[in-house]
Amino acid sequence: PTTTQAGRAKPNILVTGTPGTGKTTTSSLLAEATQLRHINVGDLVKEKGLHDGWDEELQCHILNEDLVCDELEDMMEEGGNIVDYHGCDFFPERWFDCVVVLQTDNSILYDRLSSRGYTGSKLTNNIECEIFQVLLEEAKASYREDIVMALQSDSLDDISRNLSTLTGWVNNWILDRSS
Ligand code: ADP
Ligand code: MN
Repeated sequence: PTTTQAGRAKPNILVTGTPGTGKTTTSSLLAEATQLRHINVGDLVKEKGLHDGWDEELQCHILNEDLVCDELEDMMEEGGNIVDYHGCDFFPERWFDCVVVLQTDNSILYDRLSSRGYTGSKLTNNIECEIFQVLLEEAKASYREDIVMALQSDSLDDISRNLSTLTGWVNNWILDRSS
């Protein structure tokens, strides 16, 4: 039999958003605070070769969605994961208890991506992605709206507030299910 959502003792959280919105920063701090496991999907794809080569135009790996999902399945079934990725529509819906969409003001994001070395269409594509709220729409289309949480990530104060919101959410989730 397949394990249901209720079967895991710790929640799975997806942290998504346009590149540069703070997914990796937020996820690693949240993992420290909660003892959940941070899975950086981009790094995993590189390490384990879960791709179909390199996209010259977009300057990124062509992620193989089936290989990524196969790689993650056992850990996700076990629970207690923070999955960090700039896409969210190809993971099984049953994996996640909470889907966090980080959002950043355009001009702040522009500066962050420029200082990361993004230029030209790679820079403008990502800024447009944020302006049109592509990841928020993708999350709402792929998961129940009541588990989708949009959080602002412009400043260090935002990071602190988001961390305490999410740490509280995790602790409540675990408490609710341990009684
Ligand atoms: P992502 O994983 O979404 O691409 P990162 O976590 O790598 O984003 O953050 C990109 C850059 O922006 C890093 O230099 C990080 O320190 C900075 N950053 C991210 N979120 C914030 C924030 N809320 N306030 C200030 N700086 C931030
Ligand atoms: Mn990242």
